[in-house]
Amino acid sequence: MRVFRCESCGALTYLSSSACVQCQAELGFLAEERCQGTFWLQSDGRLLRHGRGDEAWRRCANFQTACACNWMLREDDPNTICLCCRLTVSLPDQSLPENQAAWRDLEAAKRSWMSNVLDLYLPVRPRSEDPERGLAFHFLRQLDADRPVLTGHASGEITINAIESDPVERERSKINLREPYRTLLGHVRHESGHYYWDLLIKDSPLLEPFRALFGDEREDYSAALQRHYDNGPPADWQSAYVSGYATMHPWEDWAETWAHYLHMVDLIQTARAWQLEVGAFDDSRMLALLPESSSLTPEFIDLLKRWTPLTLVANSLNRSLGQGDAYPFALPYTALRKIQFVHDVVKPFHPQGGFLH
Ligand SMILES: [Zn+2]
Ligand SMILES: [Zn+2]
Ligand SMILES: [Zn+2]
Repeated sequence: MRVFRCESCGALTYLSSSACVQCQAELGFLAEERCQGTFWLQSDGRLLRHGRGDEAWRRCANFQTACACNWMLREDDPNTICLCCRLTVSLPDQSLPENQAAWRDLEAAKRSWMSNVLDLYLPVRPRSEDPERGLAFHFLRQLDADRPVLTGHASGEITINAIESDPVERERSKINLREPYRTLLGHVRHESGHYYWDLLIKDSPLLEPFRALFGDEREDYSAALQRHYDNGPPADWQSAYVSGYATMHPWEDWAETWAHYLHMVDLIQTARAWQLEVGAFDDSRMLALLPESSSLTPEFIDLLKRWTPLTLVANSLNRSLGQGDAYPFALPYTALRKIQFVHDVVKPFHPQGGFLH
């Protein structure tokens, strides 16, 4: 989550802002420029970009709905809703207030995830526009006890159970499943990992290196799922995985690792945007945490040197406000190697060779 400023008065704004609190200029996110724009509403209803002559934009049509999307479209864009909203193809019954709230919260998490993915220059296209390789989201509410809505991914279609947007229900699941962390953004990041595995790993030369690190994904998924829910993760899971759930199957290990990488990128970018200087770990302290035979690259170690102290700061800030840890994980070396693998898969998409540049 980066920090933005109103281009008119310089006030600090959030990615999710739609108006400047100081000067009342209109604000919106421009996906193609990966930034926030400042606009002035004209008497004819057009939104002209601040300081850019007659560059006209309009709001995503979902701005006026429960979704309250703050993304923008160019005036001549034939679409009525933005790229992020076009990924959503199913919604729970919007005549019910709880489903409107679910749509709002799920889309806010999805926009946050998508700005992250756009920053990494990863491909993301709506399935309606690319039936082979595109992505679609279904936000569904369970209506019938016999037909559960399962959060998951299959062939470019991500389903998220709308009940996850209810904080009470989410906390209940978190406790029942003994998870340290459960958020909507985490769900979107995790499920997108399955999508990108299909897109970037499945039919690529990366498949064998993937198997060498994560295991063979041809292992029976249903049997693995059953085993996980019957027995839980193996006692020593913390020695090699980012989470207990990651032990279930190589696909879940990848998706959990992918989600952690996106957490890492976002936290580092946010800290950098706020010019947050945390006493970064020096080489010797960082290397002392790794085994002597470490195969981590200097670039990835550089990333860890920023990341590790930031997680400590985030947790300490939370604790000083009486909240639980923001990042309740400790990553073992093997999990770090897996995150480095994700970093190496993602990095080539960035025109400057990675988000750190
Ligand atoms: Zn302003
Ligand atoms: Zn939108
Ligand atoms: Zn999964």
